[in-house]
Amino acid sequence: MIDTDVLVVGAGPAGTAAATLLARGGIDVTVIDKTTFPRDKTCGDGLTTLALRLLQELGLSSAAVESWRDVGQVWMRSPSGREVNLALPAGQGRYAAVTKRVDLDSALVDLARSCGANVIEDATLRTLTPSETSITATLAGDRSITTRYVIAADGMWSTTRKGLGLDMPGYRGDWHAARQYRKAAGERSRDLWVWFEDDLLPGYAWSFPLPNGEVNVGFGIVRRGSLSGKDFAAAWRELFDRHHIREVLGETEDISPYRAWPIPARLPSVSLTGPRTLFVGDAAAATDPMTGEGIGQALETGMLAASAITEHLSGSPDDVLGTYERSAKRSLLADHHMASGLSRVLRSRVATNMALRTVSVNDWTRRNFARWMFEDYPRALIATPRRWSRGAMSRPGADI
Ligand SMILES: Cc1cc2nc3c(=O)[nH]c(=O)nc-3n(C[C@H](O)[C@H](O)[C@H](O)COP(=O)(O)OP(=O)(O)OC[C@H]3O[C@@H](n4cnc5c(N)ncnc54)[C@H](O)[C@@H]3O)c2cc1C
Repeated sequence: MIDTDVLVVGAGPAGTAAATLLARGGIDVTVIDKTTFPRDKTCGDGLTTLALRLLQELGLSSAAVESWRDVGQVWMRSPSGREVNLALPAGQGRYAAVTKRVDLDSALVDLARSCGANVIEDATLRTLTPSETSITATLAGDRSITTRYVIAADGMWSTTRKGLGLDMPGYRGDWHAARQYRKAAGERSRDLWVWFEDDLLPGYAWSFPLPNGEVNVGFGIVRRGSLSGKDFAAAWRELFDRHHIREVLGETEDISPYRAWPIPARLPSVSLTGPRTLFVGDAAAATDPMTGEGIGQALETGMLAASAITEHLSGSPDDVLGTYERSAKRSLLADHHMASGLSRVLRSRVATNMALRTVSVNDWTRRNFARWMFEDYPRALIATPRRWSRGAMSRPGADI
């Protein structure tokens, strides 16, 4: 017996985006999450234009998200010490924002519920058993749910992926990143900062501004075999005492513990589907390999999975899974390859210095780099003529 047409495992951005679209399309959808909301998620809390436009499409209002702060300009510092100021377009919508995940994810859960999704909190997936006609999820506490399709939105350590034997043994993510909330007294900490530091390349450190003088500070590095947990913690301890960073932040006061978490960024080499299952967001390793940003990609893959199911619910699983695989690859793969290539270039100090020098040539280069960086248009737009259209590079920001 089918309990629900679609079971979404995980109520982060990927799962709630999928559930919102499915429920809005009149499909019976249940979402389970092992935690209770509001819950924190270790993240930089930065929203790109891509994420903002998708949140708008879902119908989220920024007014529903408590710690929301718009971002109008970005500062970047090269390894050689050049500071570059990049202004995003003003007066035509939002191109970037920062908001604590504890608030964003709760607002997304509320949105999914208001559209008719049945969200069950404190419900941990343990195992999955596919059959010819359905798939049964066993939850902690001996509960079970039988469904036609599972959307696996359960993040980096996806239980779904493991349960179906589709995980990569020993895989611990492509990036490792840490963040902390602090109060910062420095005047310049009210802007969004990205520091390219010699010892972090192609990774970087950040300070993202939040309301009430708070900042989300953190850093991410591309995982190398040699990196030990001890080295990572040592880097954290001294990074924010570096003179040029201290100068921006001023006196700081910790308001949360420091937390680290891996970032999966290998969309081309993971399976996007399994038996009656569609992987989305971090469970599909969909983050941008150059920046480690994944909220936009989580929303996008969640929405594509929902569309594939909506289109073929009464058809065969092959139609659903095939449609999702094709649409996810078409939407994300070229950008992923472009970002991977650029990330390799940013491993070099010389190349990173040169890139920031080129970016700061004039207003046009600064503005367009900022828009490209914040995913206003696709990373690989230049290499994918099918996406060229009049106005592709001058769209208004999100109205959210
Ligand atoms: C330090 C750091 C900084 C980052 N900064 C940014 C940033 O500034 N901007 C950006 O766009 N991206 C950033 N990212 C990446 C971003 O956080 C992720 O890509 C994004 O959260 C992925 O969303 P998701 O919905 O796929 O998964 P998640 O947000 O991880 O949600 C997964 C959900 O699944 C639930 N779950 C897990 N297992 C089970 C189970 N067995 N049963 C039931 N529920 C389960 C979890 O409780 C969770 O709610 C950062 C990541 C890190 C680590």
